[in-house]
Amino acid sequence: MANISFKNVVKTYDNGVTVIPDLNLEIEDKEFVVLVGPSGCGKSTTLRMIAGLESITSGELWIGDKLVNDVAPKDRDIAMVFQSYALYPHMTVYKNMAFALELRKVPKDIIDQKVREAAKILELEPYLDRKPKALSGGQRQRVALGRAMVRDPKVFLLDEPLSNLDAKLRTEMRTQIAALHKRLATTFVYVTHDQTEAMTMGDRICVMKDGVIQQFDTPQTLYNYPCNMFVAGFIGSPQMNFIQAKVEKDGDVCVLVFNESRIPVKDEAILPYVGKEVIMGIRPEDIHLEGFETSCEKASITARLNIREVLGSEMNLYVTCEGQKLTAKVLYDGNVKEDEDVKLVFDVNKIHVFDKDTEAAICH
Ligand code: ADP
Repeated sequence: MANISFKNVVKTYDNGVTVIPDLNLEIEDKEFVVLVGPSGCGKSTTLRMIAGLESITSGELWIGDKLVNDVAPKDRDIAMVFQSYALYPHMTVYKNMAFALELRKVPKDIIDQKVREAAKILELEPYLDRKPKALSGGQRQRVALGRAMVRDPKVFLLDEPLSNLDAKLRTEMRTQIAALHKRLATTFVYVTHDQTEAMTMGDRICVMKDGVIQQFDTPQTLYNYPCNMFVAGFIGSPQMNFIQAKVEKDGDVCVLVFNESRIPVKDEAILPYVGKEVIMGIRPEDIHLEGFETSCEKASITARLNIREVLGSEMNLYVTCEGQKLTAKVLYDGNVKEDEDVKLVFDVNKIHVFDKDTEAAICH
């Protein structure tokens, strides 16, 4: 079993700055968890605490049924893959993968078997005799993964492993790492600042800000039910639109008032906000050109189109409506022109409402 459990973990660096104030996180055995958040939010610190590369100021860290606060990195049964690959330049691919096992005095035939098995899975067999400098970035990263694999660790820790690769290779490696996770059936903890990487790879995603977990859930739940404006804005691309709107009552029904629309909100959680301003959230892909055929309930607005960005079958529209800037991702339509008014519709069922002061979600 290699579940990982943080219990009230605090990390204060030697300079006196507390970057993790109180972390409680339960990662299940064999799960692929992605830690995501903006630069400096404490993702690497969290990962490095699991690895034992950073000490824990207080609290408890468990791997399986073992309290590991004071266990040396080499005794934790984990393997870490870094952004920089950290391969030995003077060693061949084979030797790079074999080296850690040789240090542990593993018999030569077993080392050979493990290296060849990893090379096969990672499609590195043709390169075993090469030195790292004669490999592409993607191949080097696969060697780094192979070096971790041969040790049969209980936990894989990956710190931005794809950031040095170009966009196409990154997409390919994402799929390969996800497939590797399935095949190895071990716990993976993966750090990235890239929400697309997080969304496509993680069983669950832990969104962090200033050392504090904002939400820890499946990609689909984070996308559909973000708990606050930070998560709502961080997950999804282009980013969710945030619009100031007022809550009013039409008879028994609460409505969000914005531009030409009075959008009914059925959730009772909205009731205390009648007469107040709230933030309405809607994703660009949930705004359509008027005339868009769906059965969804719609609310219309008129906006001025500033920029049209054609992506092929779709286009991003950057518009202004009552002084507020919005982005819509709509199906391509050549009749829509810049510097003209455009009629858009919101898919009413996809609207999120947030408290203006606390930024917490009121309802979805
Ligand atoms: P992330 O991985 O999310 O970018 P980090 O965990 O690397 O964030 O860093 C979190 C915060 O801790 C940052 O403000 C960073 O400057 C600080 N930090 C990281 N390492 C050290 C260190 N060795 N000493 C002091 N502060 C550090």
